[in-house]
Amino acid sequence: MNSKQKRKKKQQLISLYGNYCWWCRQDLLQTNLTFDHLLPQSRGGSDSFENLRLSCFPCNNSRGNSLYPPVTKKLNYF
Ligand SMILES: [Zn+2]
Repeated sequence: MNSKQKRKKKQQLISLYGNYCWWCRQDLLQTNLTFDHLLPQSRGGSDSFENLRLSCFPCNNSRGNSLYPPVTKKLNYF
């Protein structure tokens, strides 16, 4: 994806899921949202909407290539 496609995709994901981190539900600015692949690209995950979510950098980073949600950050349900 080039940067224009990424921006468009981010907008579409925000309209689907809101501008929240998928994992910790933190309310984020669009610029602070990162693309998170549910199935990591390194494991064959695609850039389809079914596989893409938006997350904050700490959550995305802590998942790495894991298939599971981030464990280093406490989930904040309230
Ligand atoms: Zn997060």
